[in-house]
Amino acid sequence: MKKVKIKNSTKEFTVGKIVCVGRNYAEHARELGNEVPKFPIIFLKPPSTLIYDGDNIFHPSYSNEMHHEVELVLLIGKSVKNASDEEAENAIIGYGVGLDMTLRDLQNEYRKEGNPWTLAKSFDTCAVISEFVLKEEYKITGKEEIELLKNGNIQQKSSIDKMIFPPAEIVKYISERMTLEPGDLIYTGTPQGVSKVEKGDVLKSRIEHIAEIENIIE
Ligand code: ZN
Repeated sequence: MKKVKIKNSTKEFTVGKIVCVGRNYAEHARELGNEVPKFPIIFLKPPSTLIYDGDNIFHPSYSNEMHHEVELVLLIGKSVKNASDEEAENAIIGYGVGLDMTLRDLQNEYRKEGNPWTLAKSFDTCAVISEFVLKEEYKITGKEEIELLKNGNIQQKSSIDKMIFPPAEIVKYISERMTLEPGDLIYTGTPQGVSKVEKGDVLKSRIEHIAEIENIIE
C-alpha cells in the first residue's frame, strides 16, 4: 500500500483512491481544443501508480507523447458522503503538489473512438506526489503560484485561484457520487502550458508555500 507523508510530522496516511479533475483551468481546456466544462470532469488513477519526490518517471514505450500536468493535490482526512459546503471544506486536511502524467496521443485516440481513456492516465509512475502540508499549518489563499519547470525553463505558471471549480466544490461534487475516505487524494487539474517530455528531462513542480518536487523522465 502506498503512503503519503506530512511535512514536519511523523504522521503518514495510507493512500486510498486517487481521484482527478480534468480541464479545471479555462486556458488549459482551450489549449487542448476543449470546451470549458460546466461540471468537474472526473477520472481515477490506481494508488499503485504513485511515486514521490526524487523518483524517476518511466516513459512507456507505447506512447510518443507523454505530457506533464502540475496540479494542486488535496488530502482527505475525514469520511464524507453528500457533503455540505462546510463538510467538504473540513474534509480537506492538507495540500500537496503533484504531477498527473498523461499519454496525450493515446488519450486523443481513445477519445476519438469514444472509448474510456483510462490507460492514457493510468500506468506505473503516472502520479507523482510531494509531502503534504496540513491545513492547520498553512491555509491556501488562492494567490499561491503553481508552476512547472522543464530542464530549468518555465512551462506552466498560474495561480490556484484560476481554477474553475475550487477545492471544496470539487470535494462536494465527488462526495455526491462516491464516499471520500481518509487517505484519498484529489488531483485538482492543471493550468495551461502542458508539453511533451523526453527521456532525460528534469521536471521541477512547485506550489508556493506548499511544496516542491523534482523528477527525471526515464
Ligand atoms: Zn490532470
